[in-house]
Amino acid sequence: MATTTAELEVLLMQRSLTDPQLIAAAETAADFRILPDATVIKIGGQSMIDRGRAAVYPLVDEIVAARKTHKMLIGTGAGTRARHLYSIAAGLNLPAGVLSQLGASVADQNAAMLGQLLAKHGISAVEGAGLSAVPLYLAEVNAVVFSGMPPYGLWMRPSADGVIPPYRTDAGCFLVAEQFGCKAMIYVKDENGLYTANPKTEKNATFIPKISVAEMKAKGLADSILEFPMLDLLEAARHVREVQIVNGLVPGNLTRALAGEHVGTIITAS
Ligand code: ADP
Ligand code: MG
Repeated sequence: MATTTAELEVLLMQRSLTDPQLIAAAETAADFRILPDATVIKIGGQSMIDRGRAAVYPLVDEIVAARKTHKMLIGTGAGTRARHLYSIAAGLNLPAGVLSQLGASVADQNAAMLGQLLAKHGISAVEGAGLSAVPLYLAEVNAVVFSGMPPYGLWMRPSADGVIPPYRTDAGCFLVAEQFGCKAMIYVKDENGLYTANPKTEKNATFIPKISVAEMKAKGLADSILEFPMLDLLEAARHVREVQIVNGLVPGNLTRALAGEHVGTIITAS
């Protein structure tokens, strides 16, 4: 039975904000998707952008062609420069919140470069995807570039073991997709998808085309091709109940994934 605003307000005034009846009452409205026709695409930092022209130019061409038929929010990873910063800052015993700010500056650099490459096609890089004119850009030119690091900065939730920020650009891009209620989330990286082990170091690793979060955890793959907190974010998501990982070094993969084809690995929430 739907709760009225007045009934919900009574509960909100009287109960703890985590009271089960209050939570249930707050849940009764139908889900609202802000940008249901858009797809979020994360362009890997280390896996794609750090490879320079050979990896980035073909991807730019694909993005330019794809935006004729798809609405895309394009987030950038950070990569090797961020890892270098993390190693220096961690060596100096600086905390996760400072490392988070440093990592964000590298994702910003990548967004700036990708934005300049797409500029002549009318596609801009924006700061603060969640606060800016993203809907306007999507309506006008079907695409926009944003920096993928979530803006937690100094308020980054630290991990139990170490100062590396646990929520980085995989999480940042996913949260944009989930909060906007987007159609899909595609990760563009440098492997065909998820394997039974890191294919860069394990020659016998085998490819996994589709898997659930629970299965990934059971197989010990929670910290593999995606940042480990991603699996919990995906499991708890309302809108984006699966993500797709494609090899961006293979021309056409991104286009196929945008068209709804099962290329790469699909990770499902349940
Ligand atoms: P990004 O550039 O988007 O940050 P990462 O480099 O962090 O991407 O993550 C992709 C990398 O994850 C792959 O290049 C691969 O070497 C590594 N990886 C680790 N474990 C696995 C696995 N089980 N399956 C596939 N890739 C894995
Ligand atoms: Mg990464």
